[in-house]
Amino acid sequence: MTARRLVLFDIDGTLLSTNGNGVRAMMRAYTAVWGKDPSGVDYAMSGKTELGICYGLLALLGFTRDEVRSGLPRFWKRYPRELRRHLSPRSTTVHPGVRELVHAVSGQPALLLGLLTGNCEAAACVKLEVAGLDGFAVGAFGEHHEERASLPTLAVEAARRLTGADFRGKSIVIIGDTPNDILCGRALGVKTIAVATGRFDRESLARYDPDYLFPDLSACGSVLEALHA
Ligand SMILES: [Mg+2]
Repeated sequence: MTARRLVLFDIDGTLLSTNGNGVRAMMRAYTAVWGKDPSGVDYAMSGKTELGICYGLLALLGFTRDEVRSGLPRFWKRYPRELRRHLSPRSTTVHPGVRELVHAVSGQPALLLGLLTGNCEAAACVKLEVAGLDGFAVGAFGEHHEERASLPTLAVEAARRLTGADFRGKSIVIIGDTPNDILCGRALGVKTIAVATGRFDRESLARYDPDYLFPDLSACGSVLEALHA
């Protein structure tokens, strides 16, 4: 049976939270690569891609785009290394219902389990490994685009390469915890499921009009129904 739905999970705030350790690791990597610690800079990261954060945050510290670009290869290696140092299973929260839901989705042939995340791929792998989550068949990651809105197309292409199937419109489902998750698939007309386990509460997410809105992912049966609807 071929998959009928491409199910794309965001990571931070949706599947898990690193409780500040992920950002601390990121700041260490910035400091190691560019020589300045951006910890005190006021910058909203949620829902942005890692590449977008690099350019946006480092611009506030006075770095040009060329200076940022030349440090990127070192950053993509250093950041996952710092993550390994900073994260542990005990200090990582896997949100309610996530293990059961991820397991259920990866076990259903009609559903193709994937990631759509602002994390770079290596960082995503470390976070999922520490959390003990696996089974993701495809993904779109934050080192490939500055704009999150460009990631769904990359995930759809990866799914096509893997399965030969062409996912479009509401057969693509994005599950995330920020307004940017809801907005990023809008141009493709995807189905959006918002979950209030991150920085945004139900009321603020509801304003962006997701197709479904859950307080968390513990109502596995209802979420699966929403995926298949
Ligand atoms: Mg998130």
